[in-house]
Amino acid sequence: MTALPHAPSDAARQAALATLDKQHVWHPFTQMQAWQDDEPLIIERAEGNFLIDVAGRRYLDGVSSLWVTVHGHRRREIDEAIVAQLGRVAHSTMLGLASVPAIELAARLARLAPAGLTKVFYSDSGSTAVEIALKMAFQYQRQRGRPEKRRFLGLAEAYHGDTLGAVSVGGIDLFHEIFRPLLFDVLRVPTPYWYRDEAAPTPDACRDRCLAALAQTLEEHGHELAAFIVEPLVQGAAGMLVQPPGYLRAAVELCRKHDVLVIFDEVATGFGRTGTLFACEQEAIAPDLLCVAKGLTGGYLPLAATLASDRIYTAFLGSAADQKTFFHGHTYTGNPLACAAALASLDLFESDQVLARVRLRAAQLAALLATRIAPRPHVGQIRQLGLMVGIELVADRVSRRAYPADAQVGARVCRAARAHGVILRPLGSVIVLMPPLSVTEDELELLVDAVRRGIETETE
Ligand SMILES: *Cc1c(COP(=O)(O)O)cnc(C)c1O
Repeated sequence: MTALPHAPSDAARQAALATLDKQHVWHPFTQMQAWQDDEPLIIERAEGNFLIDVAGRRYLDGVSSLWVTVHGHRRREIDEAIVAQLGRVAHSTMLGLASVPAIELAARLARLAPAGLTKVFYSDSGSTAVEIALKMAFQYQRQRGRPEKRRFLGLAEAYHGDTLGAVSVGGIDLFHEIFRPLLFDVLRVPTPYWYRDEAAPTPDACRDRCLAALAQTLEEHGHELAAFIVEPLVQGAAGMLVQPPGYLRAAVELCRKHDVLVIFDEVATGFGRTGTLFACEQEAIAPDLLCVAKGLTGGYLPLAATLASDRIYTAFLGSAADQKTFFHGHTYTGNPLACAAALASLDLFESDQVLARVRLRAAQLAALLATRIAPRPHVGQIRQLGLMVGIELVADRVSRRAYPADAQVGARVCRAARAHGVILRPLGSVIVLMPPLSVTEDELELLVDAVRRGIETETE
């Protein structure tokens, strides 16, 4: 088919879009000076687990569009649920009104979540879910008559989002250092990152050392702590650091002993990513507050939730004069289209038997990583839980010497993998693999081969 006289050719259209992007779009977590000199990859549509650019090239979505896509793109069932909701109402407020999909989703989440989390407070991103949990914990302690319990405790390597409260409890200096003067003071305990724990370089020894440090901090500061916040089982943006078995459960038990609330940030690990619906199920432990976002709508729309226990909720009850209301709420909170997408996504977890398939795919991926990636000379450690993988590249394998940050080794490997049909985004020197949970075995081969070739060309 020939182009219409006034329709720009694909190449001309692509160039025009790229120019407009560079003129007007400021991209997140991106050095825009480098972006100006580069050719942006512009996505136009998607099919299943593949993204398709304006030139019609197809790429496997190797990081699930930043960790959100669950059942693939353009899943008929989710598309239809959103369209059906559009036929009813796109948005109505939750301030003073209730809405059908928000009610149904809250009941569903309460049923699926770890025991005791019966109340659902909506917002629209992982960061806001965390802010809400922090404010609830703080206000809870005041209202139960323990105002001195006002500080927070977190892991040294942690990521909880980019708003100021979430940055305060986060611990990634590269992202957060400049904002230090704006942040509140948070106590830190060591992350169980045994690969880089010189004092205790095995999972068990590292776990015990970190738990001892936590116990001591709680001993000294428990009386002034409102809550401990942690990403259960995997510190995601810190580099896919997988906790040694037993760490989480023991950490929660220590907090309980010192009357410190526990907040689980399952924004990355929730909704099947680690092989169970929520990661904390694997340690048979539940928090007082649970933050979810990313995969909640199957990766379709921005929606988040903070789930709370009855004990916390009850402490906020009283007359208007009691001043116990939780004064927090974002305008688009509980958006009906997003809730409808989330309900359809949760249906698919059942009809597609997603959790069983994740466990099968995780085993297949582990085998591919062991044979094709682990032998490469600059692969230091491969960390995996379910379909959540970090491949830590090192300048020297024996000494575990890290690459200098300005070598940009992770970015270079991911860029090289793109030439082999896979979209990736690293975390420093860690190559992240987070395919949609709907990934097929053939697609896993494509993913791992693209990464292998990227590692070979950029590190060997
Ligand atoms: C992504 C992420 C967040 C922040 O979520 P946003 O939707 O980007 O605000 C918080 N916590 C964890 C563990 C995350 O991975």
